[in-house]
Amino acid sequence: MSGRDHAVVTGGAGFVGSHLVDDLVADDYRVTAVDSFASGTPENVSHHADDDRFSLLQRDVRDPLPDFDSVDVIYHFASRASPTHFDSHPIEIAMTNSLGTRHVLEAAVEHDARVVVASTSEVYGDPEVHPQPESYRGNVSPRGPRAPYDESKRFAEALSMAYVRKHDVDARTVRIFNTYGPRMQLDDGRVIPNFLSQALAGDDLTVYGDGEQTRSFCYVTDLVDGIRRLADRPGLQGAVMNVGNTNEITIRELATVVRDVVDTPSEVTYEPRPTDDPDLRCPDVSTARERLDWEPKVPLRAGLAQTADHFRTRRHEIVGSTPED
Ligand code: NAD
Ligand code: UDP
Repeated sequence: MSGRDHAVVTGGAGFVGSHLVDDLVADDYRVTAVDSFASGTPENVSHHADDDRFSLLQRDVRDPLPDFDSVDVIYHFASRASPTHFDSHPIEIAMTNSLGTRHVLEAAVEHDARVVVASTSEVYGDPEVHPQPESYRGNVSPRGPRAPYDESKRFAEALSMAYVRKHDVDARTVRIFNTYGPRMQLDDGRVIPNFLSQALAGDDLTVYGDGEQTRSFCYVTDLVDGIRRLADRPGLQGAVMNVGNTNEITIRELATVVRDVVDTPSEVTYEPRPTDDPDLRCPDVSTARERLDWEPKVPLRAGLAQTADHFRTRRHEIVGSTPED
């Protein structure tokens, strides 16, 4: 695919979606972001407001996509992604990933467009295979508090494959592992926004449980690079790929690194662990390495420093003063 093709990004005003928009505009795509602003904000893409290659439409993907003249590729990234939202918006999330994905796939049929569906490491649940390869079928509770997200993402994958088989749609799926970076919302509730906000405010960092659970954190530009390679390579209809960093650390270690990067007097406090919080998570990225020549590049400390800079600016904007104060 090439410049001046039309790319639609659902969730394009969100954290990952807005970075994808940047990358597509830089490649001279005509880009339409479709977003309900449920957990994203127009500010994330406001730097494109005067660019005639870009438009932002406030729409909910639980409704059919708008009538476009033509679409070449759809990046389906609409969905709240923070576990705190799994509690507060379970039905919205379940319907966004089920009905919303159907609307995206119907638009792909109509326009003969390629689709990249954002799935998640959460499809592996609390994994019994470690690290997780794409062939692992997961250990997910269909009834627990994370189920509206996990199970609807699994359904989104199943529905995508049904459209591949029944309608020959060129759908590809990216299973995203914990990704962080600028433009996450300060009150997002995920661990890196929480720890950075707390560290910058001088508050204690809230570790849930004993902090021995692990995650592997990928910087957003590495993720976007993987997503674009997955979208652009020929011959990947129906493919599914893990994209994430393989540097696995405990949450307790993460707290130490954040305190160090921010240079804060904050201490650590321990709070109860959420129900069904996975113990371990680390991607096996051999498929992306082999088929996309993709490799994550940004080390955790460098990515956290970039993200902390963004959070410093946002905190000061919110309280109405300047970053130099
Ligand atoms: P985000 O909350 O920043 O972005 C999601 C965007 O989707 C927001 O702008 C939100 O307003 C929009 N949205 C939500 N429901 C919508 C709806 N019904 N209609 C239209 N727009 C809607 O989260 P994110 O981290 O950028 O996640 C983006 C995608 O990547 C999601 O599909 C998420 O499941 C997936 N993902 C992200 C991660 C990660 O670590 N960031 C990990 C796994 C999967
Ligand atoms: N976590 C934490 N403190 C926080 C937020 C999260 O200790 O303030 C833990 C959470 O219990 C989980 C890990 O950090 O074990 C990653 O949580 P996050 O919500 O970022 O993503 P998840 O991988 O659970 O979807």
